[in-house]
Amino acid sequence: MKVVVLPGDGIGAEVTNQAVKALRAVARRMELTFETTELPVGWAAIDECGQALPPFVRQACRQHDAIFLGAVGLPDRDQTLPQEQRPERAALLALREGNFANLRPIWLPPCMAQPGHPAADMLIFRELNAGIYMGGDRGRRRTDGVVEAFDTMRYSVPEIERIAHLAFEAAMERRKHLCSIDKANILATSALWRETVEGVSARYPEVSVRHQLVDSAAPAMVQHPEQFDVLLTENLFGDILSDLGGVLAGSLGMLPTASIGGDVGLFEPAHGSAPDIMGQDIANPIAAILTMAMLLEYGLDLGPAAHTVRNAVLGVIEAGYRTVDIMADGCTQVGTTQFGDLVVEQIDTT
Ligand code: NAD
Repeated sequence: MKVVVLPGDGIGAEVTNQAVKALRAVARRMELTFETTELPVGWAAIDECGQALPPFVRQACRQHDAIFLGAVGLPDRDQTLPQEQRPERAALLALREGNFANLRPIWLPPCMAQPGHPAADMLIFRELNAGIYMGGDRGRRRTDGVVEAFDTMRYSVPEIERIAHLAFEAAMERRKHLCSIDKANILATSALWRETVEGVSARYPEVSVRHQLVDSAAPAMVQHPEQFDVLLTENLFGDILSDLGGVLAGSLGMLPTASIGGDVGLFEPAHGSAPDIMGQDIANPIAAILTMAMLLEYGLDLGPAAHTVRNAVLGVIEAGYRTVDIMADGCTQVGTTQFGDLVVEQIDTT
């Protein structure tokens, strides 16, 4: 199993180190063999060879089973480049290409819950390749002397079916509840979405399905996160709901992501390069380590290995260790590297 590792910029490299340590530990523990190839991306690549995603890196990514990416971009330096050459645009968009499902787990274990901040464990599936952000008619026109602008939201049945199948399969491995979110009382695309998801659900009789309008789902996610297991939604709603869900996890350092469905999946923490904290050994590596767990599960089909990594992270949290961004009364504050070491210790010993 071949994994390409792109640490990138800022804290990207610091948190990637911890995720790779966890990968090595789980390989030892479960007698798995991974071939990892570390390559530059973002400013690390621009400094080395003049481009955020050099052709040899892109080529290597195509020849591996999964891609792990730390983070790219450094705001002060980004501004010196035209938009299309900036790392976020030039590297990330190209690496995500072809992957039509964006997965965003929102996880706050019960031991981290606080009054007004309940525990959460949900997995959002956001469609990534269609909808109002992609293609379709858009633009401005002048009608009777008045300027107007328009965008087009479009979905086809196969585009809905393929992500619905992935979401149902994930639900089968979890608590077997799926909430499909739309605006079917108004939008034609949502009516088709609902109808199509309903059709796909027949193939997964063990999964209970609920359809919810986006405007009622958003507050419910915040007030009653325990009602949600797998959420399935289109591109625009998914963009907004996954950021809203991110707030439930308490810190950007808790949020892994995966983009899958194409030839090679891209796995990356939701956060950026966080230049304000880089080099201080204080970045939270949980997002990156949980991203590695997603790579094992969705990129390499190694569910039990993913489970081992997630359990190890939970074990460290339950033992009271926290990085500064999630520090709480009675807990022990540790740095990035020490948190990573504790996760490795958990994998090795439990
Ligand atoms: P950011 O996510 O890097 O940081 C936002 C805030 O969250 C900062 O205060 C930071 O210290 C904190 N934070 C982020 N990750 C953390 C972690 N693991 N532990 C503790 N605190 C953490 O977003 P930004 O500051 O808007 O962007 C910085 C750079 O990253 C920009 O160049 C941007 O383009 C890039 N970026 C890249 C990605 C990506 O690679 N996927 C995503 C978002 C932003």
